[in-house]
Amino acid sequence: MTTSVRTRFAPSPTGDMHIGGVRTAIFSWLTAKRHDGLFFIRIEDTDQDRRVPGSCRRILETFDWLGIELDGGPDHASLQLMSSDEDYPGALEDGSSRGIPGSFIQSQRLPHYREWAEWLVANGCAYRANETPEELEHMRADVIARKEVWSFREEMRLRTDVDSSQPHVIRLRVNPRDGTTHLHDLVKGDVCFENANVDDTVLLKADGYPTYHLANVVDDHLQGVTHVIRGDDWLSSAPKHVLLYKYFGWEMPKFAHVPNVLGEDGRKLSKRHGATGVFEFRDQGYLPTAVINFLAMLGWAPGEGDEQNVFTIPELIEKFSEDHIGTSPAVFSYTKLDWLNGMHIRRLPPAELAQHLIPFAQKAGIALDTPERMERFLRAVPLIQERIKTLKDAAGLIDFMFTDIPPVTAASLIDKKMDQAASLKVLRETRELLAQLPDFDPTIMEQAMRQLAERLTVKPGALFTIVRNVVTGKSVTPPLFGTISVMGREMTLERLDRAIDVLNR
Ligand code: GLU
Repeated sequence: MTTSVRTRFAPSPTGDMHIGGVRTAIFSWLTAKRHDGLFFIRIEDTDQDRRVPGSCRRILETFDWLGIELDGGPDHASLQLMSSDEDYPGALEDGSSRGIPGSFIQSQRLPHYREWAEWLVANGCAYRANETPEELEHMRADVIARKEVWSFREEMRLRTDVDSSQPHVIRLRVNPRDGTTHLHDLVKGDVCFENANVDDTVLLKADGYPTYHLANVVDDHLQGVTHVIRGDDWLSSAPKHVLLYKYFGWEMPKFAHVPNVLGEDGRKLSKRHGATGVFEFRDQGYLPTAVINFLAMLGWAPGEGDEQNVFTIPELIEKFSEDHIGTSPAVFSYTKLDWLNGMHIRRLPPAELAQHLIPFAQKAGIALDTPERMERFLRAVPLIQERIKTLKDAAGLIDFMFTDIPPVTAASLIDKKMDQAASLKVLRETRELLAQLPDFDPTIMEQAMRQLAERLTVKPGALFTIVRNVVTGKSVTPPLFGTISVMGREMTLERLDRAIDVLNR
């Protein structure tokens, strides 16, 4: 184990986090934690036109919800500088964090990028250019008309005597033009890029903002990143980054370009397949631990012969290895997520599960506004723990314990093999029994009800079905006697009385 591993997640603040991005973040975080290292967030907002206000806050909320502690990320003051709607009270306190230099927002680090861009120019690794957007568009159209691939090269410059006091850009000098650039990637293996296909990309724009390539490399170096883990749509940018590391003379971090997440039809995961935003999963009742477990296994598996699927967070941290990220695209299975969520729900202590369920129950109209109702809710949780896949499923299984149920009809109370009089007798006897039973313990209740069925010569199943209909208003519920025990005597007898009235009419 080394203590120096440092990884980052570097989202652009362009909206809510897509679950594929969260997966990349989880791979980065697990890599850092596996090696006892640090994981931080850096906001890459160099393309100010694409910035969506509020996304920074949502990104930080995502990690809060997942329960992933950051070792560095935007602080309160930085977020306020961005705009008031980025305000996020839970942000970290300090510009630098645990030895990682801040700020963690690129638009607040502009002087670094200019300094390093000028260094590249001074050392012959970059050059100034001042073609206007219109000129570039013409050049591009010409190249495309010749059916060639458009990329800017130094020899295409319209003017070479660029006045550095006038607006201009700084471009990467790809050198040698006819050579190749190599990358050893932890996922893709050895990758070789023809320099001829690499653009003399803009590093510093005329407005003083860096492009992604420069900012990303400068920050990863200054912030001590050891492993760059990102989606493989960034692989084509990698040669530019490799060249920059070489020009600067900086040690390269390890790279892992992770395959995309696909839907079950083999296409890139999108709305078409179902939920894709992390908060949609939260709102649909998935536990953060299940989401982490599921995402960690989208493209990673513990290795030959290890069939484990359900992991706690410490187990994931212990077993994860960036060397075992798969090379083929990961397929997002909503069915597997449901299954895993159910497994994580069952593993929680009931009191903890109850805390997760409370907001969902309240949202579904179950008022938990008195100690008595809260107590009833807490007692109901173990009855449904085995039966739910998402936190949202709970309310529909226990709502009748809290809200009035629709009036029962005579037809629903009469078993196929009984007439009205027999059903009435069954209900009266049940009422009598439950009114007198000293203890509302489920086992005692069940025993007594079985004896009653025997005495009345009805099948226990038939008796239980009628009673279930009467006291819950449903034909499928959690175990009947556990349910009645939680509902309590008063509510149970009241519902039995109402049913007896219906049959008596
Ligand atoms: N800002 C890039 C993004 O939005 C970061 C890519 C990287 O991790 O290098 O995904």
